[in-house]
Amino acid sequence: MKNKIITKVALIGGGPACATAAIQLFRSGIEIILISKEIGGTIKNANLVENLIGYPEGVVGREFAKSFRLQLTKVGVPVILEEVLTVEQVTNNYSIKTAETEIISEYLIIGTGSFPMKLDVEGEKESFLNGKLFYEVFNIKQLTDKKDIGIIGSGDVAYDYALNLQDAANKISIIHRTDKTSSLPILQKRVKNANNIVVFKNHVVKKLVLKDDKIILEVEEDGKRITMIKDLVLVAIGRKPNYDFLSVDLISEYNDPKVDSKLKFVGDVTKNNFRQVSIAMGDGMKVAMETVKRITEKEGYHGTFRQVW
Ligand SMILES: Cc1cc2nc3c(=O)[nH]c(=O)nc-3n(C[C@H](O)[C@H](O)[C@H](O)COP(=O)(O)OP(=O)(O)OC[C@H]3O[C@@H](n4cnc5c(N)ncnc54)[C@H](O)[C@@H]3O)c2cc1C
Repeated sequence: MKNKIITKVALIGGGPACATAAIQLFRSGIEIILISKEIGGTIKNANLVENLIGYPEGVVGREFAKSFRLQLTKVGVPVILEEVLTVEQVTNNYSIKTAETEIISEYLIIGTGSFPMKLDVEGEKESFLNGKLFYEVFNIKQLTDKKDIGIIGSGDVAYDYALNLQDAANKISIIHRTDKTSSLPILQKRVKNANNIVVFKNHVVKKLVLKDDKIILEVEEDGKRITMIKDLVLVAIGRKPNYDFLSVDLISEYNDPKVDSKLKFVGDVTKNNFRQVSIAMGDGMKVAMETVKRITEKEGYHGTFRQVW
């Protein structure tokens, strides 16, 4: 490990939760470091974000995510763009390790979001490694020109992905396991009106096979096995909180949080079932303000106050 950094507050994650928390802490004069694989987070996958107040026309997810980077830079938040591999508590501090750096912090805010769930069927890993199967639209977008794409899933994310790709792709099939969708009615309506998106209900994907530059889905429909042939497949069957870098002790704390802990979780990584940008930002802001209060009032630490306006 080449670098060692000591800071008052470390934040892990570059999505709306930690970006909000980092800006608030930094403007309050607290010494911080934000560590993240990238800046922007999951919202860069959104076709059009229409539930954020202040954007009457909606905002394209990718553009919205890009603005976090600009704002963090403008404010001057110190950022390390590396993947966190392990986090553990060492005496009264937290040790955060990437491949290159160890960061030691007294307080730690984790906003590492969620990761997409896998289908868990034969041929999935091979399809992924061969660039035929994806879990996020952000990674597929530039490959979709005139392609026939299968999207597996029945929620908001599957429908949002289909709408996101409709102009670039030739044909899109949304493949549901059941006859139900949990997607927002407005997304269902847009999908219905799109002339190149078709919804297949009660289609359970059982196996994936690569053949002649295509990906073949072996699907069970009404007890019969059928095949669907696609150029690319996108899986959108749900997401789970992302904290597998935590030590066993800290996973226990995640499951059973302590009120006075200096470790806090914000945004989609929390156990909250509602995953939305404004909730992530609110979480980040609340934890940042509580942390500032705790540091300045209880501990008499006033950080390195900076002139920021
Ligand atoms: C297709 C789609 C459409 C959506 N549309 C909307 C919408 O219209 N409106 C809305 O409000 N919400 C929407 N959402 C949900 C929204 O994207 C999330 O609620 C929000 O991004 C959560 O923010 P977060 O900061 O908690 O986590 P994330 O945005 O997931 O950010 C997590 C951050 O942690 C980083 N990270 C993860 N692991 C590590 C690691 N080991 N080391 C270093 N960094 C790490 C990531 O790189 C990322 O920067 C949508 C989501 C999807 C997938």
